[in-house]
Amino acid sequence: MDYAALRKSMVDEQLIQRGIKDKKVLWAFYKVERHRFVPKDISDNAYADFPLAIGAGQTISQPYMAALMTECLAFSGSERVLEIGTGSGYQTAILALLSKEVFSIERIGPLAKKTEALLKELAYVNIKIKTDDGTLGWPEESPFDRIIITAAASEVPLPLTEQLKDGGKIVLPLGEASSQVLTVISKKEDRLELSQVCPCVFVPLIGKFGMRQS
Ligand code: SAM
Repeated sequence: MDYAALRKSMVDEQLIQRGIKDKKVLWAFYKVERHRFVPKDISDNAYADFPLAIGAGQTISQPYMAALMTECLAFSGSERVLEIGTGSGYQTAILALLSKEVFSIERIGPLAKKTEALLKELAYVNIKIKTDDGTLGWPEESPFDRIIITAAASEVPLPLTEQLKDGGKIVLPLGEASSQVLTVISKKEDRLELSQVCPCVFVPLIGKFGMRQS
């Protein structure tokens, strides 16, 4: 399997043609070997245009959605980033190439451990992972310049808005369990400004400040 060729097609056809423009984001999606982050038996589909199951009932997001969320965060390279929902670690690896440091929280212990081992094997040195309820944030490491939540919430978790720096941004899927809107929150002098990007569907954020049970 020529994974480099598949990766180039993914970037050209799924990202550039749909409007992803940030050159550094495109570079990161070309560089990170997505097939390393999916179960071996489905690695032929690693660069396909849809989410994939990664075990424990969880998914790795569609490449375009991961790229769009990354572009929404407008990285300069100096940011400290909090990620909620480590999952396979693919998005974590992308963030690590575009920022200074990534702190990533996954609620499922075995998934967090497996991903931590993979990212270590791949020699990422600016990533810290912990198993916890990410809706509580990571107070000891706060404040953060950027926060990415890769699971769906009914409201922006309060601890995360408190752990965001002034001038910082959060991107998350906001809405109901069945469908959400990708939303960017910008914090300006303690005010939160919301901007809606596009409809999306993610697995629920499960935790104290996560998706409301209906
Ligand atoms: N970004 C991931 C990737 O590239 O593979 C995909 C993440 S998957 C769509 C969502 C993840 O959020 C799942 O692994 C799930 O276990 C995790 N999750 C859900 N609620 C969480 C919470 N409160 N804290 C931390 N992780 C949570």
